[in-house]
Amino acid sequence: MKIAVIGAGIGGLTAAGLLCQTGHDVSVYEKRNSLDQVGAGLGIGSNVLKALKQYKMAYAIEQEGASLRKIEIRSDLDVFLNSLIMNQDEHENITIHRNVLHEILKTYVPSDRIYLNHELKEFKQTADTVRLYFENGVEEKFDLVVAADGIHSKVRTNIYPKAIPKYAGYTCFRGVVNENLDIEQEVALEYWGHKGRFGIVPLKDNELYWFCTMNAKENDLKFKSFEKPHLQAYFNQFPNEVRKVLDAQEELGILQHDMYDLAPLKSFISGRVVLIGDAAHATTPNMGQGAGQSIEDAVTLTNLINDRDIESALKRYDKLRTKHTKKVILKSRKIGKSAQTSSTLKIKIRNNMLKRLSSKSLSKKVKFLQKAKLE
Ligand SMILES: Cc1cc2nc3c(=O)[nH]c(=O)nc-3n(C[C@H](O)[C@H](O)[C@H](O)COP(=O)(O)OP(=O)(O)OC[C@H]3O[C@@H](n4cnc5c(N)ncnc54)[C@H](O)[C@@H]3O)c2cc1C
Repeated sequence: MKIAVIGAGIGGLTAAGLLCQTGHDVSVYEKRNSLDQVGAGLGIGSNVLKALKQYKMAYAIEQEGASLRKIEIRSDLDVFLNSLIMNQDEHENITIHRNVLHEILKTYVPSDRIYLNHELKEFKQTADTVRLYFENGVEEKFDLVVAADGIHSKVRTNIYPKAIPKYAGYTCFRGVVNENLDIEQEVALEYWGHKGRFGIVPLKDNELYWFCTMNAKENDLKFKSFEKPHLQAYFNQFPNEVRKVLDAQEELGILQHDMYDLAPLKSFISGRVVLIGDAAHATTPNMGQGAGQSIEDAVTLTNLINDRDIESALKRYDKLRTKHTKKVILKSRKIGKSAQTSSTLKIKIRNNMLKRLSSKSLSKKVKFLQKAKLE
């Protein structure tokens, strides 16, 4: 089949790689002039590696990742609240540098099939073809278009003009440092406090990535102007580990993004156009599943296309992925709301609940991630 993939992010490159590997004629169109990534670390759940297991990509990703066994949640006063034990049934949970993941995914798509500086402008469909029009004047016809053009997807806006990303009420800073902390191996730490959250996640080769989230207005100018010293001052009451990580951060290289998600869509399909990744189901990062779900989309779509006729493949993809990703969006939103509360009373109730709950019960709440049907 002649397939176009719009967007060379994690979702687009995974889909393109899997579809190429299974014999399709694939072209990837990316609006930027390079594939270089700006980003820190990512968590890739065992659910994702399990989904990818029949493809070579899984091995490469697992090799380059650092294993993650649990996430410990503590208060800003360093009181242990609970820990999320990561599922290790069959595959590990790993953490990986976004750049490294991208480099791996890129190798599965022939470089002459990735077209940079190709920003999709519009598309027109007949019953079984889609014609794409790019800003640079290029036009091309395909049997199927996989739209992986991210949270601000032009393709989705064309299909659902009213589906716009919703601001979650908090902003996020991220970075990567080379620092040896005296903490348990393969364990991530999250400190939840009145002023926000601070997370520390081990990467390979002695590196760590960190993130912090604080309640803010959308495009809040106060936080836009934040640099390393502002973050150090903001978190100076947080435990030692947080202060050590911020001290180790270089002045440059701190990323800041406001957090958004999408209200779950009823369908990811319009004729021969299929939405995947953030274009279909952008979620807040509280479950560390955005990239993972885009990879699961790519696997499901590839499996189905290679197993049945295109109409029934798209129908089945739609049914499986809308249902599963809706749960991820809503659960992640709920975690964010609870974790970001700044009400003293609500924090007290939440922390007491977390302390009373067994780690096993907490981990069960995300068990559904392992149950996604990928066909
Ligand atoms: C702070 C933060 C932390 C996160 N942490 C995690 C984590 O730990 N684990 C996890 O799994 N996920 C995490 N995520 C989510 C993850 O980064 C995203 O879900 C993932 O990158 C989505 O991939 P995508 O391919 O759908 O979209 P994107 O990565 O956004 O890629 C879209 C691509 O499409 C291109 N494009 C856009 N419009 C056009 C056009 N018109 N024509 C051509 N090209 C176009 C863009 O340039 C881009 O390259 C995090 C996100 C944030 C913001």
